[in-house]
Amino acid sequence: METSQGRAKGADNPGKAEKELEMSIEIVDTLIVGGGQAGVAMSEHLSNCGVPHVVLERHQIAERWRSERWDSLVTNGPAWHDRFPSMEYSDIDPEAFTPKENVADYFVAYAEKIAAPIRCGVEVKEVQRNVGRPGFRVETSDGVIEANNVVAATGPFQRAVIPAVVPEDAGITQIHSSAYRNPDQLAGGAVLVVGAGSSGAQIADELLLADKRVYLSVGPHDLPPRRYRGRDFVWWLGVLGKWDAATLRPGKEHVTIAVSGAHGGETVDFRRLAAQGMTLVGRTESFKDGVMYFATDLADNLAQGDANKLSVLDEADAYVARNGLDLPQEPEARKIEPDPQCVTDPILDLNLAEAGITTIVWATGFTVDYSWLKVDAVDEAGKPKHQRGISAEPGVYFLGLPWQSRWASAFIWGVWHDAKFLADNIATRRKYLAYNSSVRCEYEST
Ligand SMILES: Cc1cc2nc3c(=O)[nH]c(=O)nc-3n(C[C@H](O)[C@H](O)[C@H](O)COP(=O)(O)OP(=O)(O)OC[C@H]3O[C@@H](n4cnc5c(N)ncnc54)[C@H](O)[C@@H]3O)c2cc1C
Repeated sequence: METSQGRAKGADNPGKAEKELEMSIEIVDTLIVGGGQAGVAMSEHLSNCGVPHVVLERHQIAERWRSERWDSLVTNGPAWHDRFPSMEYSDIDPEAFTPKENVADYFVAYAEKIAAPIRCGVEVKEVQRNVGRPGFRVETSDGVIEANNVVAATGPFQRAVIPAVVPEDAGITQIHSSAYRNPDQLAGGAVLVVGAGSSGAQIADELLLADKRVYLSVGPHDLPPRRYRGRDFVWWLGVLGKWDAATLRPGKEHVTIAVSGAHGGETVDFRRLAAQGMTLVGRTESFKDGVMYFATDLADNLAQGDANKLSVLDEADAYVARNGLDLPQEPEARKIEPDPQCVTDPILDLNLAEAGITTIVWATGFTVDYSWLKVDAVDEAGKPKHQRGISAEPGVYFLGLPWQSRWASAFIWGVWHDAKFLADNIATRRKYLAYNSSVRCEYEST
């Protein structure tokens, strides 16, 4: 392991310092917190730059892929795309959508391949800046470590968000999409799925196929075509430069994206789901006396999703024409079925008991949690203060954030490139710190 044991040279708190002087403290150059895909990518690039490091993962490598997602989940992009550049999936057709267990196995194998120094079962409890000397004091479930740099690779989707709409004692089971596993887990009765991004759309579809009565609350969303003119949408987004978009188009709010690799990969089609028996409702707004109230925006949200899909088709057609590509025409991709009755005559309030709804699945997203990072890298709202992952606190980095450098940042292939950028920055900064500095010698030798 590329670390050294050393003695702490004083600390901010004299009592603590004395105690630490008595015991040996491990010193590492760069500590990565989190052993998901981001932590693995960071380890690879730091190794390539010759930067000694350790990765601490509180559970197992790629744990969220293994145990924090529903059983039938497959990747949203085909296997040729949703992977790191230097290793293919050994057991998955490149055009297929990878089951989540295989994604977790892939990152375990990848970590082995690059000999990533990952310690599983170690949780980082707190990171503080040393006072009067460089580096950080990192308290873990396995003792204290001192590090020159800390990379927070704890994921873009850390804490499940359930809006405070329905009180806990309302007599209805409420779970977040991250706790949903399969239809058998839910009690009998109808289900209201709130949120129609990739998670909500896929979970609602699965529940409908399991003969559940399903209500789906559809908010604003983007709805790219799964495939067009023989190419998957991930390819179109790549050649059209959309994964590289550094920010949203001016004037465009971030909305969730409804895309799915289920059933071999199909375009999400809310009207088709309605034709199969699902009841669509608008954005969930409030709840009172057993009645859920929905916004009047359902038809608008579907229309905006259609507009998003058509705009991708237009750009794809223009790309084909400009480059003289021989890709088959696909006019039927533009066909939009008439709005079903639940859209033309929307339900605006629903007595949940009368509708037989026993469970609400909140597919309403996640937020970050950096409460363990007690340095000047997080704002008052708990959000990272950073530029492309380089935080306001020198030596502290973030990785895997949504839109960290571009749209692809929180996805499998995007995080690998962001990690490369950060590793380069860490290696460069080490050179400045090492310049003519005896203080840094100990760290440099680790
Ligand atoms: C339902 C769903 C489906 C997705 N599908 C796709 C897809 O198909 N394709 C795609 O490219 N992306 C997909 N993503 C997005 C993204 O790829 C995943 O969210 C991925 O898990 C992010 O990897 P990460 O390493 O950044 O974070 P995580 O996977 O969240 O890993 C962070 C790790 O940090 C650990 N950790 C956290 N705090 C501490 C601590 N204090 N100490 C030690 N360890 C800690 C956690 O245990 C975890 O293992 C999906 C996301 C979701 C939610």
